[in-house]
Amino acid sequence: MPSQSTGKHYLITGGAGFIGSHLCEALLERGDQVTIIDNLSTGRFENIEHLVEQHGKGPQSRFRFAIDTIRNETVLDRLASQCDTVIHLAAAVGVRLIVEQPVHTIETNIMGTESVLKVAQRYRCKVLLASTSEVYGKGNKVPFREDDDVVLGPTTRSRWAYAASKMVDEFLTLAYHRQKGLPVVILRFFNTVGPRQTGRYGMVIPRFIGQALEGKPLTVYGDGTQSRCFLHVKDAISAVLSLEDYPKGVGRIYNVGSTEEISIEQLARQVLVAVKAARGTTSSEIVHIPYEKAFQAGFEDLRRRKPDVGKLEQATGWKAKYGLEAILAETVRSLYTGPDQRSDPPQADEAT
Ligand code: UDP
Repeated sequence: MPSQSTGKHYLITGGAGFIGSHLCEALLERGDQVTIIDNLSTGRFENIEHLVEQHGKGPQSRFRFAIDTIRNETVLDRLASQCDTVIHLAAAVGVRLIVEQPVHTIETNIMGTESVLKVAQRYRCKVLLASTSEVYGKGNKVPFREDDDVVLGPTTRSRWAYAASKMVDEFLTLAYHRQKGLPVVILRFFNTVGPRQTGRYGMVIPRFIGQALEGKPLTVYGDGTQSRCFLHVKDAISAVLSLEDYPKGVGRIYNVGSTEEISIEQLARQVLVAVKAARGTTSSEIVHIPYEKAFQAGFEDLRRRKPDVGKLEQATGWKAKYGLEAILAETVRSLYTGPDQRSDPPQADEAT
């Protein structure tokens, strides 16, 4: 991660979210100027409160925030006019949220990105678009490479609306680059985890840790043999910063993720071990919930999801530093004793 300030002014959409707040922290730490826009729909003011305290006060303040939607183009235009680079993280995310609120998902992701690109073009800002491994859909190739075909399910299943909306975002971003010369980079984030992530919208690690800390059963969906790779948010941020700093990355797409694969059943066991290590005890067991009980009938989960990160590594020398054990230990600590427990207690499973 570059430690020197670039002297740039960044606009972070979705800056009060899980990844956004860690990104703001890293940019401010190295001396850059940061403005965020966030409507606090899934982001939380608590995530950035410490940054307001440390960097957001006085005439020399390097941190500013607008609590607003990215679809407010008047505000977005004003903010972009003062910035060099826009890092566009604002989106509807989380499988549970997407399945429950498909209209909100499609409108936020497609129209929001359209607004961001429009204002970025006006002021010639560089744009980094946060996309997602969901765009690979249910293709069964392991690992996924950036130029692989995508395989989506039918439009009657809400889950695929998220993948399709982010695909449109990618198409539109690349179109601005090709047709209008806008400098853009697309990052496809795979499962990213760490402190400040909430389990409210479905993410499995904060859900399992929350359940274990409350002494409730850990709800493994399906048979638990499906697998994922979990990247520490700090490693995700170092990927963002290294790509931002890599001129040859313009017009390209990069996977950002861990390659350490684990089944969800095994993950549940490791969460119990991590919680036990932190508290000395745990009374939780692991239960299996059929998908149709956890979500709506016909819900399709992905069996395996692993990235090929060779393109990112070769381009920038990036390497993930944190393994799953360290991630779980840190996330348990943050939820057990940290401020996050006070501001947003992990949610119990609403579906069961
Ligand atoms: N999952 C689970 N129990 C939960 C939440 C999620 O078993 O309480 C499973 C989910 O079905 C999926 C995996 O954990 O197979 C990762 O889910 P998450 O929503 O975190 O990410 P994604 O599905 O987008 O990879």
